[in-house]
Amino acid sequence: MKKIKIALALAAFTLSSASFAQHYSSEPPKVSPMPMKPEMTEIWEPEVAVVTPGKNLGDAPSDAIVLFDGSNFNQWESAKDPSIAVPWDIIDGDYMQVKPNSGNIQTKMKFGDCQLHIEFSAPDDAKGVSQGRGNSGIFFQNRYELQVLDSYHNRTYRNGQAGAIYKDHAPLVNPIKGPLEWNKYDIVYTAPRFKENGQIDYPARITVFMNGVLVQNNATINGLTLYIGLHNYPEAHGEDVISLQDHGNTTQFRNIWIRPL
Ligand code: MG
Repeated sequence: MKKIKIALALAAFTLSSASFAQHYSSEPPKVSPMPMKPEMTEIWEPEVAVVTPGKNLGDAPSDAIVLFDGSNFNQWESAKDPSIAVPWDIIDGDYMQVKPNSGNIQTKMKFGDCQLHIEFSAPDDAKGVSQGRGNSGIFFQNRYELQVLDSYHNRTYRNGQAGAIYKDHAPLVNPIKGPLEWNKYDIVYTAPRFKENGQIDYPARITVFMNGVLVQNNATINGLTLYIGLHNYPEAHGEDVISLQDHGNTTQFRNIWIRPL
């Protein structure tokens, strides 16, 4: 009996040693009999679509929808009353300017995932402090605000300054230019996904460059960017308009284009 036990123990030791050797041997693992060739990992079809970039950085590429080029408000409507003309001003055939207390404006088209380019400038006369200076905003799906503010030498709460997802995410840095200069936002927005029961499945995400500097790095948006209260997701919704905020300041916008993704 004792001999059998010793034999069994020896067999177990031999097996475990073999298994150990197999796992930690420096020998290469056994490969499939079919040898790999370079072309086996090359994908050719369908060919990647050709897009012609704009002449200058910030110009619309060939596949973009131009939302505003300074000539008209054809892609926009009043959020208060879509039946009236857009109440904001177009100046010098170049930029639009918020008409205080006339209400937000919004795109006629609806969007979800997208790449958006938009340029903004503070009012020409820098006045007001904190949230009262050059305040506006870009609302994705009419709900989630990327803040627009004159944050040049103008302290406010860090999650409410230019480049912030309003009261949700402070920007990584503050690369704002002076109030007489134009700023550029280049944004990649991923819409939230909802479950069949209407609850949030994957929250929205956003990456933002301000003047070529990263200010939001694939940040999670935690819900409606409310002024008061914690941010939660509303019931499921689909694509929606992009709106620009009238916050009572004569903030300016120009060169707006979008690429639905
Ligand atoms: Mg705002």
